[in-house]
Amino acid sequence: MSTEQVVCPHCLAVNRVPSERLKDDPKCGKCHKPLFVDHAIEANSAMLQKFMQKSSIPVVVDFWASWCGPCKMMAPIFNQAAGMLKGEAQLLKVNTETEQAISAQLGIRSIPTLIVFKNGQEVGRTAGAMNLQNLIQWIKQFTNQ
Ligand SMILES: [Zn+2]
Repeated sequence: MSTEQVVCPHCLAVNRVPSERLKDDPKCGKCHKPLFVDHAIEANSAMLQKFMQKSSIPVVVDFWASWCGPCKMMAPIFNQAAGMLKGEAQLLKVNTETEQAISAQLGIRSIPTLIVFKNGQEVGRTAGAMNLQNLIQWIKQFTNQ
């Protein structure tokens, strides 16, 4: 039986979840809240690093800024994708204005930039806004489904 490591978006505990249970709305063993939520999780750099280092399922991060028009257009689409990908991937958003150090460290040059992390490594990166269909398709290449 294979298990996946999933970071709780509420208390940041690292949970081990059997792969076949991922779609059954698994709860955090520590705070008992759902591990997968219907919207993108707003993360600061400490949260982001925890997800980057500890998650074995794809963590998709949207680097955005309040002055960026395409970012604003994509925000509701990104939230919708989070709901559709519950059990497969976790979607995070990071404000590049308040989290400048980590954004620079990751070499974010244009926004929106999307980066996918899995098992402590960057496995995918793209820049520019996407529609829902393209976004889901792009993320699906990193999931097991
Ligand atoms: Zn928790």
